[in-house]
Amino acid sequence: MSLRPEEVSSIIQQEISKYDIPLEMESVGTILQIGDGIARIYGLEDAMAGELLEFPGGVKGMVLNLEEDNVGAALLGDAHHIKEGDIVKRTQRISEVPVGESVIGRVVNPVGEPLDGKGEIAFKETRPLEFIAPGIVARQPVKEPVQTGLKSIDSMIPIGRGQRELIIGDRQTGKTALLVDTIINQKDTDLYCIYVAIGQKQSTVAQVVKVLEENGAMEYTTIVAASASDPAPMQYIAPYAGCAMGEYFLFNGKHVIVMYDDLSKHAVAYRELALLLRRPPGREAYPGDVFYLHSRLLERSCKLSDDEGKGSLTGIPVIETQAGDVSAYIPTNVISITDGQIYLESDLFNAGVRPAINVGLSVSRVGGNAQTKMMKQVAGMLRLDLAQYRELQAFAKFGSELDVSTQKKIIRGEKMTEVLKQDQYVPMTVEHQVAIIFAGTEGLLDDLPSSLIKDFEKGFLDFIDQNYQQITVTLKAKPKITDDIKQLLSKAVREFKDSFVNEKKLETIDHPALGKAYKESEE
Ligand code: ATP
Ligand code: MG
Repeated sequence: MSLRPEEVSSIIQQEISKYDIPLEMESVGTILQIGDGIARIYGLEDAMAGELLEFPGGVKGMVLNLEEDNVGAALLGDAHHIKEGDIVKRTQRISEVPVGESVIGRVVNPVGEPLDGKGEIAFKETRPLEFIAPGIVARQPVKEPVQTGLKSIDSMIPIGRGQRELIIGDRQTGKTALLVDTIINQKDTDLYCIYVAIGQKQSTVAQVVKVLEENGAMEYTTIVAASASDPAPMQYIAPYAGCAMGEYFLFNGKHVIVMYDDLSKHAVAYRELALLLRRPPGREAYPGDVFYLHSRLLERSCKLSDDEGKGSLTGIPVIETQAGDVSAYIPTNVISITDGQIYLESDLFNAGVRPAINVGLSVSRVGGNAQTKMMKQVAGMLRLDLAQYRELQAFAKFGSELDVSTQKKIIRGEKMTEVLKQDQYVPMTVEHQVAIIFAGTEGLLDDLPSSLIKDFEKGFLDFIDQNYQQITVTLKAKPKITDDIKQLLSKAVREFKDSFVNEKKLETIDHPALGKAYKESEE
């Protein structure tokens, strides 16, 4: 066998062209000081704000302070083994989270690690935690409804897709319950849900997950949890992580609701972080940029224009007040950023009015455009009835000494308050809501005892589902309530009332204002 020199030289040339010294440049720094989840690092002059850093043992950190001679970073994870003098690497990436279909149905922490024991998340895409909100041109007005399934909200404080609606109230007033019911009601709709739990007890979060699973609502829901025991930096980034996950849907022309439960605890976590980073404290010891903390988050909720794909991201932040004080620093900030608020009250809650919504103080500044026409028709009357009731409520104790028209208004208000009560985990379709609110505002429930309104509602809705299907079918198909439907509904109410009165063995009494009314029999 002969060797051909040209072959040999070409092989050598090939080898040489492939030869490459694997030289990697890494920008590293040394930890000067570490403690309370904060590290000060020397030698990372070129680090970016918000950049992800890698600490020993794979722990991640986020650059928050860029100072003259050092960098302040928050650790996102267990930092017990990290000590002074350790090496920290730059990653050249801004902090990000996994997004997309693979996070649906999962419970994750704010850096996208699973907390549900269902294995790693096989994600294809990530998105940055911080993202500049779409500008004015990319947006369009809110025009499609988010149905919460709660009578009092859908009728009087409607929420539109792309809106920011605040839920505000003292502790234990049913704030989380409203969110959970809204998620459950999104079954069979095209809305995805992201629930961000910030600074809550782990048991509370576990309870929410359990309820959602039992109701089949995890199929379209992601839970981002940074509980009370997690370090402040984790709690601080949680809402941004949830929002980033939501933006994946928004920018793909889909619809999503992101709920932040709650931003009071978020502000507290940020305050802790800022104080540890030695940023100067301001009012209530919050750092000066606490308004920007929430405004840049909530500005990311939007309804995109047709050119941008028509997606929407609805933001529902929660704020916990102390003794009903809505004029404290954080509540006033968030009220001013959102498009309305749902105000929950302890007094109402304890009086058994649940959901404990104070209708007088709650507003939805843009949702009305998104409300269905038939709901608008019935809700107009409802608002009026309740407003009159609120004005006269103080006189209610004078009972029959009042004039007839005042008595009637008080009675109507009482019945409507009963109609608006709703248990947890039983969201209602728009058709059913319209049917029962219509019955109330037409005065067809005035002569029934208040204590039986709930029973009546349940029986009546079953009754029309069985015997008057055309009502719900027509309401579903037509946007407006026509006179025909009104007549049919009134007929159905009267028919059912007769059988209800018989079944409950109600007595007929002479009522000073109504003429005739029903009363529960004594035995
Ligand atoms: P926290 O301040 O602790 O977060 P919260 O305001 O989120 O409380 P929830 O946890 O939602 O309040 O509700 C407090 C309690 O009230 C719960 O036990 C819940 O089951 C009950 N509750 C809430 N809404 C209703 C309702 N519509 N009907 C009956 N019970 C309700
Ligand atoms: Mg709660």
